[in-house]
Amino acid sequence: MTKKVVIVGGGIVGCMTAMELVKRGCQVTIVERNQIASQTSGESSWAGGGIIFPLLPWLYSNAVNLLTNQAANAYRELSQRLLYETGVDSHFDQSGFLLLPAFDLTAAETWCANNQLAALPVKASAFAVQSLSGEDALWLPSVCQIRPPYFMQAMRRWLVQNKVTMLENTELVPLQQTAVLNTWNTLTGDTLTADQFVVTSGAWSFELLKQTSAQLNIKPMRGQILLYKPQKNLEQIVYREGFYMIPRRDGYLLAGSTLEDVGFEAAVTREVRDEISAKAQAIMPELKGMPIIKHWSGLRPGTPENLPTISAHPSIENLYLNTGHFRYGLTMAPASAKLIAALMLGEKPELDASPYACR
Ligand SMILES: Cc1cc2nc3c(=O)[nH]c(=O)nc-3n(C[C@H](O)[C@H](O)[C@H](O)COP(=O)(O)OP(=O)(O)OC[C@H]3O[C@@H](n4cnc5c(N)ncnc54)[C@H](O)[C@@H]3O)c2cc1C
Repeated sequence: MTKKVVIVGGGIVGCMTAMELVKRGCQVTIVERNQIASQTSGESSWAGGGIIFPLLPWLYSNAVNLLTNQAANAYRELSQRLLYETGVDSHFDQSGFLLLPAFDLTAAETWCANNQLAALPVKASAFAVQSLSGEDALWLPSVCQIRPPYFMQAMRRWLVQNKVTMLENTELVPLQQTAVLNTWNTLTGDTLTADQFVVTSGAWSFELLKQTSAQLNIKPMRGQILLYKPQKNLEQIVYREGFYMIPRRDGYLLAGSTLEDVGFEAAVTREVRDEISAKAQAIMPELKGMPIIKHWSGLRPGTPENLPTISAHPSIENLYLNTGHFRYGLTMAPASAKLIAALMLGEKPELDASPYACR
């Protein structure tokens, strides 16, 4: 019999989870309190930079890197498939990643060698960052990016084409502890029925589940980004000490982002705009005086050590969690979705699921 699944949250994690479940023959509904693939208040997936790489992977555990590596390797084919099947181009681009000092060169080179990732010591000036001519940098040519709003549009279209039901502008209420989950109520009093439910509600996941036994350590972490359109753009992603600039192929340039522990406050601030633009101008002085085309923010699902929860609920039957991807949910989503789908369908997962278990 066809399994009915309800996914709570239509960000990248919910959409990729839906794709994996559809491929396994499930009948899937995504419940999203706003609109899928649109910019509303705080959702992380639209707002993210789209770098398909965990910035400084040598700082993270093997469990984090297993997910990011598996997913990063899947993105080229995934975005081509989405383009072919939906006509929407996600702007997948192998733009490479230029790491500027200060960073731990030995740790970086060792990690890249162990993970078969090309890493070349270069002078920053070789990459049209003239202002940094003397700086020793590390060039990672295989690092890729996607354009999150376009990727989300492609996903949305693919899911509609593949008969996923989208219940938008529909919010589910926080769950009470129960032994078995067969129904879940919306804020307006409707009842949704399914064989299995998956929480993919990003920064809001703990709010939904805090009255259950799940020990979820997830809190919102705001990130702000600025958008420019310089006359001459960078050709690669440039990273320096927690700050990055991402050139888009149509001439735009993103600069960001911050990591702010401000609860569910999604508003952008003038103070951060000034801080980001000063950092951007330190790398590209020509940005001084240039208009900031857009300034936005997103609330990441923050977790200790950036470790997501991909797991059955510890005590509620039929309930699963795929959440808490913090800074790298755009990168991790394809691998994380494969893992949760395997767990839900009783398949042997490709990755060991134990590091991501919910206690
Ligand atoms: C500024 C910034 C830059 C980033 N850059 C990168 C990057 O370069 N690379 C990378 O890999 N990652 C990046 N990230 C992180 C990445 O965006 C997130 O990890 C990822 O988007 C999380 O996806 P999600 O689907 O879990 O959450 P979200 O996209 O936030 O989706 C959760 C959804 O659940 C819905 N929801 C919540 N509660 C309910 C409810 N009760 N009922 C119904 N729906 C509900 C919300 O409306 C929301 O749409 C960045 C994030 C930010 C903010």
